[in-house]
Amino acid sequence: PPVIETHDIAKEYQMGTERIHALRSVTITIQRGEYVAFMGPSGSGKSTLMNIVGCLDTPSRGNYILNGKDVSRMSDNQLAEVRNKEIGFVFQTFNLLPRATSLDNVALPLIYAGYSKSQREEKAMDALQSVGLADRAKHRPNELSGGQRQRVAIARALVNDPSIILADEPTGNLDSKTSYEIMELFEALYVKGNTIIMVTHEEDIARYAHRIVRLRDGLVESDMANNDLATLH
Ligand code: ADP
Ligand code: ADP
Repeated sequence: PPVIETHDIAKEYQMGTERIHALRSVTITIQRGEYVAFMGPSGSGKSTLMNIVGCLDTPSRGNYILNGKDVSRMSDNQLAEVRNKEIGFVFQTFNLLPRATSLDNVALPLIYAGYSKSQREEKAMDALQSVGLADRAKHRPNELSGGQRQRVAIARALVNDPSIILADEPTGNLDSKTSYEIMELFEALYVKGNTIIMVTHEEDIARYAHRIVRLRDGLVESDMANNDLATLH
């Protein structure tokens, strides 16, 4: 089955007496191994859609099927369990624990999965290796550059072998050279078969994805293969 299917999903927020239609009707299918960018102007519904796809929230109407399982009406606890297993999150602000080493930051998601300490360290080391940071395992975030911090965060997202890597403005706090290095890393992860969804409002960054879904006013304005892939250097 596809890794992601949304069927006519809508999301409404009540603000006092006002009803806000953040998503009106969104139907998207994403296959395993795709690399997709969600784009759109501020207020178009990107964060709302990302929160639903990332199992942080559920739709008001319609169905979201993740790996063949309908997660649209799950309780918060059920959703948290699915999220920990299926989704690797990467954030604009890295969200690393400042006092923990790279290795400990990356190993963190494995605690909930019930691995022993030595298994956690081995898997975390493998994940750091896969982002080229094995030699920074014992460093803390303040001893790393911005790009290195984001690579630690990407290793943390990968460590549970998730179905999807969900990246919210992953280059939003990085200079352009470092941003392109992170895009090269995503390309390498894509080539290895990972499914990547990136939310961005930057055209220069979206051009690295292989498919671009554009939202406007809570609807899909366009959904196209990217024939203008940016050249990596
Ligand atoms: P984007 O990420 O594209 O900027 P959002 O999904 O954040 O768009 O927002 C879509 C619309 O829903 C906006 O009008 C926004 O103000 C509204 N919205 C988002 N989250 C909430 C919320 N928790 N409560 C009320 N309105 C919200
Ligand atoms: P925005 O894109 O609007 O600036 P953020 O990037 O801060 O918002 O967060 C995007 C969404 O992810 C928010 O709904 C937030 O609640 C959620 N989120 C942020 N950090 C975490 C986390 N560590 N674990 C799970 N969800 C998170």
